[in-house]
Amino acid sequence: MDRLADARTTRLREKVEKLQSEMQRMQALAKEVEDAPDQQTSLTDPDARSMATSGKGTGTVGYNVQTAVDAQHHLIVDHQVTNIGNDRSQLATIAKRAHTAMQAEHIEVVADRGYFSGEEIVACEEVGITAYVPRPQTSNNQAKGLFGKRNFVYLSETDSYRCPAGQSLIWRFTTVEKGLTLHCYWSSACKACPLKTQCTSSPQRRVKRWEHEAVIDAMQQRLDQDPDKMRIRRQTVEHPFGTLKAWMGSTHFLMRTLNHVSTETSLHVLAYNLKRVMKILGIAPLMQTMCA
Ligand code: SF4
Repeated sequence: MDRLADARTTRLREKVEKLQSEMQRMQALAKEVEDAPDQQTSLTDPDARSMATSGKGTGTVGYNVQTAVDAQHHLIVDHQVTNIGNDRSQLATIAKRAHTAMQAEHIEVVADRGYFSGEEIVACEEVGITAYVPRPQTSNNQAKGLFGKRNFVYLSETDSYRCPAGQSLIWRFTTVEKGLTLHCYWSSACKACPLKTQCTSSPQRRVKRWEHEAVIDAMQQRLDQDPDKMRIRRQTVEHPFGTLKAWMGSTHFLMRTLNHVSTETSLHVLAYNLKRVMKILGIAPLMQTMCA
């Protein structure tokens, strides 16, 4: 009986020790995550990071492959692998690289709404790149069933907004929020407005305008005038992505770390472009062009 009890005690002690060592390991990992500049750590690949995907909470850890694809031939003009988890800060960098690679005075870039960032769009415009990026629908007011900002029309001649009740929202002051210079407008007519319940629960509805908002307004106008642009984007960029993913056989890279994954991607892109040019020109003309 004593022997049985001893054996049980030993087993329990071993289990407790194992749990304690596991807790120590987890605590060390928690500290590592806390100390990391972006509060992330990956055990399989030190450079891989959590990617924002459309499925919330999917938590895919990996890399973000950016490509610029030409709309005519579907060739990959430029590509870059990053471990930044979203596309919001990516547009200007890849667009400028494509601009240089194309050696064109002016190019147009079309991207999905995940790339929407006022600063990135302005950075493109500054170097002669015309951007087409739809604005995400993230208006808090619209989500609450109130008028969204798009219901307010900016009038550049008077630097004011016209609201759904036809009132004028005039410039009141300028402020800086998160590094952005914003102009603030409101009307004195809100108090007596019959539409107020559809507009705001505050004493008056305030509308903010970024100092470079005119660039965004002009882009929205271009998109409204050319709704086919987004269809062209889908047909253009999804083609090489679909082909590359089919070749890779699964969603995983074979290499680890940013440098090696970049090299792996570059080899895929090179193979894709070569096969594409063979298809467009034919092998003999391609060889002749390469030897010329
Ligand atoms: S509440 Fe003010 S801003 Fe809104 S519709 Fe009425 S007057 Fe215009």
